[in-house]
Amino acid sequence: MTAPVIAQVNAKPRGRQFFNNPGPTNIPDRILRAMDRPVMDFLAPEFLEIQRACHAGVKRILKTDQEIFFHASTGHGAWEAAIANLFSPGETVLVVETGYFSGGWGEMAKTVGLKVETVQADWRKGVDIAKFAERLARDKAHEIKAVLAVHNETSTGLVLPLPEIRRALDEAKHPALLLSDTISSLASMEYKMDAWGIDLTVGGSQKGLMLPTGMAITGVSGKAMEAARKAKLPKYYFNWQLMAERKPQRFIGTVPVHFFFGLQEAIKMLEEETLDAVFARHARLAEATRAAVRAWGGPNGGADGKGPQLFGQSEQRLSNSVTTVLMPEGTTSDAMRKVALERFNLSLGGGLGPLMGKVFRIGHLGDLNEPMLLGCLATTELAMKTVGVPFAPGGVDAAIESLAN
Ligand code: PLP
Repeated sequence: MTAPVIAQVNAKPRGRQFFNNPGPTNIPDRILRAMDRPVMDFLAPEFLEIQRACHAGVKRILKTDQEIFFHASTGHGAWEAAIANLFSPGETVLVVETGYFSGGWGEMAKTVGLKVETVQADWRKGVDIAKFAERLARDKAHEIKAVLAVHNETSTGLVLPLPEIRRALDEAKHPALLLSDTISSLASMEYKMDAWGIDLTVGGSQKGLMLPTGMAITGVSGKAMEAARKAKLPKYYFNWQLMAERKPQRFIGTVPVHFFFGLQEAIKMLEEETLDAVFARHARLAEATRAAVRAWGGPNGGADGKGPQLFGQSEQRLSNSVTTVLMPEGTTSDAMRKVALERFNLSLGGGLGPLMGKVFRIGHLGDLNEPMLLGCLATTELAMKTVGVPFAPGGVDAAIESLAN
């Protein structure tokens, strides 16, 4: 028997959901309204103008003057497009281990027929660049065709310093392409595709760009386009050369016009605020989040395992878009996240892969401000208290102190 309608309604938490997953992220009302319009022919001059403006805007966000492609897919699709377009069967790529997502991209490359080597790293500290440089130096025959690097590892909350990776390649005079996943850093943290010598950038719609999930963005350097002309892995829907030939839309099949309506508004919002101010806002909210977590850990920031602590242990590499929090010994994050969601209407990210249950993740990227973050941090405390996770009081105060300064 179904429950009476009134009971079903009352069982739902009231008010707006506080959404602090590290992607997808909050979709601003402005973007929702921009997408709330009738469909348009994707070959109509009015739409082609919108699409052209989006191409130009995304180039400004990636800071590139090179090629851009849009795929109707999630980030995984753009990952696969990159592999299929750039390599031939049996070629070798080098993955810089950062966490769950670097592993996923490497696994995909292996599955479609590449040889995958990994520079291993401690997930809490991040890769040792000297170890990466040493592997390049040993590759005298230049068998490594590309380096796969996740700029912002969403599972661990650590950033990979891409300019240092570039420097190591240059110092070794190694010709490998540098491929970078910016899925959780795009439009949230500084990124300079051309100045950093990145050959391929993969981004998604559902994080810093504040759009629904389902469109991926790829920036491709001239050197990578050259490699694409020789690559033999099979592809059709994701074939960049075929896409470039489909003029004027540069797309295989029907163009998802509503995504472009939303993207045009997202670019407008980011540029009204200015990208530098967007990055500074993310840095401010991230610092406040870290201040809260350190306070929850007690006098030694949780290092004794008796309170929550920052998962990342390299201060200089802590992400400004997501904070991964390690649970105190003997506790798991699942019960706390369940209560946060079902009772208090706060959505937090869980642990991925080997971190499942051991950590939770606070996403502080996209359309977010101070009250939204403080609501999230206060409710996280409430959920921890409700399920009996040990933590020291004062996390919200520490965040307020950080934001006020
Ligand atoms: N790479 C990173 C760093 C991510 O955070 C994600 C998703 O969260 C992905 C790749 C996969 O992207 P998608 O879920 O859009 O396929």
